[in-house]
Amino acid sequence: MPQSKIIDAIIAAVDARRDDLIGLTQDLVRIPTLNPPGLNYREICDFLAARLRGAGFTVEMIRATGAPGDSDANPRWNLVARREGGAAGECVHFNSHHDVVEVGQGWTVDPFGGELRDGRIYGRGSCDMKGGLAASIIAAEAFIAACPDYRGAIEISATADEESGGFGGVAWLAERGFFSPERVQHVIIPEPLNKDRICLGHRGVWWAEIKTHGRIAHGSMPFLGDCAVRHMGAVLAEMESTLFPALARKRTDMPVVPEGARQSTLNINSIHGGADEPEQGYTGLPAPCVPDRCRMVIDRRYLIEENREEVRAEVVALLDHLAETRPGFEYEIRDLHDVIPSMTDRNAPIVQTVSRAIGRVLGHDPEYVVSPGTYDQKHIDRIGRLKNCIAYGPGILDLAHKPDEWVGVDDMMDSARVMALSLNELLGGG
Ligand SMILES: [Zn+2]
Repeated sequence: MPQSKIIDAIIAAVDARRDDLIGLTQDLVRIPTLNPPGLNYREICDFLAARLRGAGFTVEMIRATGAPGDSDANPRWNLVARREGGAAGECVHFNSHHDVVEVGQGWTVDPFGGELRDGRIYGRGSCDMKGGLAASIIAAEAFIAACPDYRGAIEISATADEESGGFGGVAWLAERGFFSPERVQHVIIPEPLNKDRICLGHRGVWWAEIKTHGRIAHGSMPFLGDCAVRHMGAVLAEMESTLFPALARKRTDMPVVPEGARQSTLNINSIHGGADEPEQGYTGLPAPCVPDRCRMVIDRRYLIEENREEVRAEVVALLDHLAETRPGFEYEIRDLHDVIPSMTDRNAPIVQTVSRAIGRVLGHDPEYVVSPGTYDQKHIDRIGRLKNCIAYGPGILDLAHKPDEWVGVDDMMDSARVMALSLNELLGGG
């Protein structure tokens, strides 16, 4: 069959599945896979297993036993489904996380109702990222129907805990070879980055805890003690005058969106000085003492042009400067969390393939973007050593984690067409 006929057949096969795509997305939203604590992971994997077995996939269920968060009450279940084609070839893998964040306040619809209204499906996780998961399944099923003799293999995974770091999900699978270059050659993560954007990667992360120390004394005579909170105030003042301006000057060639994140950033996640504030029986009244300790957690996001050691050294230099110049200043610093920046080359096969498919379906070139925050690509890159990976999927990222989250049916359909044509370019013609 000529290529143009095959492409028409694939598009027709996707179009015929519009109602199926809606129903599948609704079914997924109606399984409340809340994280924390990690509810209904087995249920959603069982649901997907039945669906994918029906489409000819071989399904593996993998529990991340002993991973952070895993317990008998809330086991961390993952699903990996694989369908071999009729001839040897490469493997294209679609990876979606199945967990969703807490509901929060402000909803006007049932967060787990999966309501369809005016071409949108509403619910927690509809946009991030059950709509993308459903689109990838529809794309695979449509491609298989139109090209049953394809080369290579298609994999679809639904993984746990992306919203809490992915250690019981993609990291766990990557450590066990599921993303090894021998097994998988192309990865698409259908996170909600918009149907005409290809997300190449994300900035790096370094979280650290800084502690300042003081000397306890009666609050009526603070001059007899040494206030740890004032020492931390000096850290903040030094950050304001030197570190924040320096970070704002570090611009990146990474196409990070939004534009404001196209530089190094630092957030102060939390700060607490003095006696602990108990969750039970908290009166709002602090101890009548000069605080002898203060703790701050910082969240530094860094660029592909920077490295982790110099990012840390910058903060240590600031603290050392205070230790030399400020009487009584003592500090400790502790690393809490590290993610290396990841950015797939624009000439990588998966980027080029999806780019051409977007051009064909939407009639214009894609926008190449980098995410300000991280997602599971970090594990596929660092642990799986697989560089040919992008995020591409339907939905508007700004809606994720908000009340009245939704995903557009037309956007899911366009993304499914793009994914199906990408499968054809990589695996077709068997
Ligand atoms: Zn997500």
